[in-house]
Amino acid sequence: MNDENKPSTTHTPISSLGEFGLIEHLTKHARHRHPETITGIGDDGAVIKNDEELTVLSTDLLVEGIHFDLMYTPLKHLGYKSVIVNLSDIFAMNATPKQVMVSIALSNRFSVEALTELYEGIHQACINYNVDLIGGDTSSSKSGLVISVTAIGTAAPEQVVYRNKAQEGDHIFVTGDLGAAYLGLQILEREKRIFLENPNIQPELAQHQYLVGRQLRPEARQDIISLFQQQNIVPNAMIDISDGLSSDILHICKQSNVGCSIFEENVPIHPESYHMALEFKLNPITCALSGGEDYELLFTLPSEEAKKVQDTAGFFDIGKITSIDKGTILYGKNGRADQLIAQGWKHL
Ligand code: ADP
Ligand code: MG
Repeated sequence: MNDENKPSTTHTPISSLGEFGLIEHLTKHARHRHPETITGIGDDGAVIKNDEELTVLSTDLLVEGIHFDLMYTPLKHLGYKSVIVNLSDIFAMNATPKQVMVSIALSNRFSVEALTELYEGIHQACINYNVDLIGGDTSSSKSGLVISVTAIGTAAPEQVVYRNKAQEGDHIFVTGDLGAAYLGLQILEREKRIFLENPNIQPELAQHQYLVGRQLRPEARQDIISLFQQQNIVPNAMIDISDGLSSDILHICKQSNVGCSIFEENVPIHPESYHMALEFKLNPITCALSGGEDYELLFTLPSEEAKKVQDTAGFFDIGKITSIDKGTILYGKNGRADQLIAQGWKHL
């Protein structure tokens, strides 16, 4: 089904390289792009020199069968995405990622060629986002593939943005359309079911490139952090949308001790997401609210600051922070008010 995952013509067993040979092979393209990276791969620990700045760290674990399905996930995209999801967390702190560490556990069904593809994606993300791969760990696994990435970034102390500083009256912005990654996943799952029932049927993915791309090869919003720096903007609160808009805005509200009003008509949904949701007999706004994996940023700004970005293309003003007693409310297009419900922890 997935050309990129079909066994390549050669299948070099990992045992032919051994653990150290494998690490050497996978990491030989790692380059240091930052002077702060003093020592990377090769010693017992990596060494980083950060002077005045704060260090921001984030880590994520991706488990085969839970977070990804190798039947339709090309390993190169998986490597890329595993780095991206961590960089997104660093950007959500308004910090600049500089280094990543990548740990993998794998069974002997993986070939050297397969892991090389995984690392091609990892190296590509490091190039695109200007970060250094500085180490990790490699182990065997009796079941599936496990990938853990830790991202390390820096920010000036006054620049770091937390979840707990949203203020009543703040405008709530998101940086792009929501729900597409979830619908991309629904398409991939549907094609997988069809394929398992009849392996002769070719998957129909070409016409769904946008949605499938949002699922398999997301990007993190580095550009937004640069724009904030250029325009001297520091949001009051920020989070990346990984679990879904509802769940993520509720984190901000809970930690900031505030409420919010979100207006359905202002929540950006791509036309393809809209149509695909209807095809799956899903409500488009539910996909946007609960889908997750969009990796857009959600941030809040006081009214005066909000004016600076209100006309910025690609910024969507979706609602306001209110006092806690107003609750966390979604106002529907029909004017109906509903409680926002968190649907995170889908994997547990
Ligand atoms: P140790 O015995 O100290 O755990 P390893 O032999 O596991 O060291 O690793 C050797 C070097 O290679 C270390 O610098 C480590 O950070 C790096 N490394 C190990 N596995 C990976 C990996 N999967 N990706 C990137 N770097 C790795
Ligand atoms: Mg080790």
